[in-house]
Amino acid sequence: MSKRSLLLLPGDGIGPEVMRQVRRVIDWYARKRGIEFAVEEGLVGGCSYDAHGTPLTDETMARALAVDAVLLAAVGGPKWDNLGFDKRPEAGLLRLRKEMQLFANLRPAKVFDALVDASTLKPDVVRGLDIMIVRELTGGVYFGEPRGITDLPNGERRGVNTQVYDTHEIHRVARVAFELARKRGNKVCSSEKGNVMESGLLWRQEVIALHKAEYQDVELSHMLADAAAMQLVRNPKQFDVIVTDNLFGDILSDEASMLTGSIGMLPSASLGATDANGKRKALYEPVHGSAPDIAGRDLANPIAMFLSFAMALRWSFDLQAEADILENAVENVLNTGLRTGDIMQPGMARVSTSVMADSILREMDKVAAV
Ligand code: NAD
Repeated sequence: MSKRSLLLLPGDGIGPEVMRQVRRVIDWYARKRGIEFAVEEGLVGGCSYDAHGTPLTDETMARALAVDAVLLAAVGGPKWDNLGFDKRPEAGLLRLRKEMQLFANLRPAKVFDALVDASTLKPDVVRGLDIMIVRELTGGVYFGEPRGITDLPNGERRGVNTQVYDTHEIHRVARVAFELARKRGNKVCSSEKGNVMESGLLWRQEVIALHKAEYQDVELSHMLADAAAMQLVRNPKQFDVIVTDNLFGDILSDEASMLTGSIGMLPSASLGATDANGKRKALYEPVHGSAPDIAGRDLANPIAMFLSFAMALRWSFDLQAEADILENAVENVLNTGLRTGDIMQPGMARVSTSVMADSILREMDKVAAV
């Protein structure tokens, strides 16, 4: 079997610090479990602009398209804030998402018992929470035509965006949600505004049709997006997988992630289509940014990056038991009371990026031995 291939894009700010620790985790799998990855590293964001005058070179783009999975840390920082839009660090990230055609964005919101008090919601509401938002990422109102701002004859101006979805766009993202649900709690809640938007009505009809044809074993429900926003803070544990469009997903996924109360803990995955060999284009990245305020000081929480790699193990390499080892090690270390600054609580022990990573790696030895 050919080696599993990974492209690491550490990016800017705390990116290189947390990626350095993930490299150690990747080495651990080779050393301790005989699971080898062919690892390449590249530049994206401000560091690529500094080196090459562009936030993503064509060569790096081509490598991203060639590997099994891309692992990105974070891009951006004040140094590059005044560049034109196409030179800004984020433009590198947007190009990756666009050219890899990553249409499904997966954002888990999981509350670790040890961090239940980090949420702004009552512990009873979020304890044990483990939900997944699947957001359509390449269509809908952010891309629909016509769009723009025009001058009107009466001296006013008009802003227009178009919410548009075709059947295949709905089916492919709903398919990801159903497949995911089968590996989790087997429930999908589809969310739209079918009561006031035709595109939402079509969304609901097409999800129902796909469910009937291929996924009747999965429990399917529907909820209007405004109600879903409310239920996410009222009783979030009723959900398993939520699938929704680009606009509502943008909002609901941010809302869901904040239920956990800790940005340094949140991973994400963006998936594209499967090729003839059943391989999907995939990009894994923490939800947090480059945190320039703490960069270079060994203060960053590496856990969001670790959990992003765990998602890669699960979704790109089908290494479920190996992903469990990493996730369980993270949970166990949190239970021992170690905390980076972002998740620090009274009575806990504050540690650096590298000490947190050391502890998780040691714990992986123990978890794997059981
Ligand atoms: P941010 O996520 O970088 O930081 C927000 C706050 O959370 C900061 O106080 C930071 O110190 C803290 N934080 C974030 N990640 C942390 C971690 N792993 N460990 C400990 N603390 C952590 O968001 P921001 O400050 O709004 O943006 C900073 C830069 O990052 C900007 O240039 C922005 O454009 C960029 N950004 C990039 C991405 C991405 O690469 N996907 C996402 C968001 C923001």
